[in-house]
Amino acid sequence: MHPLSDATHHPQLRSWVVSANLPDSDFPVQNLPLGRFKPRTQQGQAEQPWRVGVAIGDEVLDLALAAHQCPWPDDVVDLLKPLAHGDLAAHLAQGPTAWRRLRQALSVALSEGSVEGPFLELCLRPQKLVLMSLPCVPRDYTDFYAGIHHATTVGKLMRPDNPLLPNYKWLPIGYHGRASSVGLGGPVRRPCGQVKVSADTPPIYAPTRRLDYELELGLWVGVGNPQGSNLDMAAAEDNLYGVTLLNDWSARDMQSWEYQPLGPFLAKSFATSVSPWLVSMDALAPFRRPCVRPEGDPKPLPYLDSSFNRAHGAIDITLQVWLLTPRMRELGHKPVKLSQSNALDAYWSPAQLLAHHASNGCNMATGDLLGTGTLSGPMPEQGGSLLELSQGGRQPLVLGAETRTFLEDGDTVILRAFCEAPGTARIGLGQVAGTVLPAAVFV
Ligand code: CA
Repeated sequence: MHPLSDATHHPQLRSWVVSANLPDSDFPVQNLPLGRFKPRTQQGQAEQPWRVGVAIGDEVLDLALAAHQCPWPDDVVDLLKPLAHGDLAAHLAQGPTAWRRLRQALSVALSEGSVEGPFLELCLRPQKLVLMSLPCVPRDYTDFYAGIHHATTVGKLMRPDNPLLPNYKWLPIGYHGRASSVGLGGPVRRPCGQVKVSADTPPIYAPTRRLDYELELGLWVGVGNPQGSNLDMAAAEDNLYGVTLLNDWSARDMQSWEYQPLGPFLAKSFATSVSPWLVSMDALAPFRRPCVRPEGDPKPLPYLDSSFNRAHGAIDITLQVWLLTPRMRELGHKPVKLSQSNALDAYWSPAQLLAHHASNGCNMATGDLLGTGTLSGPMPEQGGSLLELSQGGRQPLVLGAETRTFLEDGDTVILRAFCEAPGTARIGLGQVAGTVLPAAVFV
């Protein structure tokens, strides 16, 4: 057993929800991610408010119904109150003791043979019949640059002799992203902006020609800190609720023209997509791994270091990018896998990103979103963006009868992630899919 595992992770646990026991299910009873949903309405029906649910197999457990239909212990009744009103953020703000108590109660209730099963059967809805929303509306969004292989490869494209700048191994590099354009994927409009077509001509305002994705994890803050205070590593670990996938859509031609001297701006702010199910750090406990640095690298400064982080700071999550082109769709083909990497390729752990963010007294809030940065593997074919896979657009990828350097209109990018380890039940993060729409014509 992993030292951080408890009864909720036991690999033999099975659910009375049959689809949760299928070997490739992302949502077995060991996972229990939370999300916000509502039933799909027919034309003419009144819109319903968002509700909070738990993904279990192919179903959603509706917590508004579950709170009333089922006899829960008193302390769980209290925990379910905000969730029954659709307020997932209020649960995130309650902190790790509340998160663990709810997880433990849901684990018991959704496991085979539970006394709650006959009540909760009436509170399930098929996932395919519901609409999903963001788990909560992020008040603020910061994107980091923790994937060292991505930073090195992209750095080489810009500075062949000096790919990693000297600050990289001392502090997590980040920039402030735009919270308003964070969504769940779906249609993503190709942005227009200033691009330099050649070095010798003035920039033009035009649709981006180098639209790209970035494979990242989104980290969601549970409990925040007041302005003027900071979070030590133990507090940062306790204040992070969980993770989703995150696609940081990027317009490379706009980015290369605008990014100096203050960093990314309009090349990134038009859209960021996350997956809908928030997988808790508690669910990921059996997949925590040592956060180790290569021999000779600087030790993290004390505010970014802890014995817990050295032993368990990293997370073993397999990450994949898939692409479905309009032609594949037309021919009835399935998406093709573009790359696979792992969250262990991050140089900085989630807790280090949060501790660093708050280290100047910046107040972090419930529902704030942190992107890890692109998580590429060490091999060229493990690049988490087309910029890397196509070597800056010089080497097109061959996809059957087609090629790609950057994304074309109609392309669907799908990010998927899952955790697998011997002696542990497989869990997944689900997926986030976005399809490129043609640029709007601006006047
Ligand atoms: Ca990014």
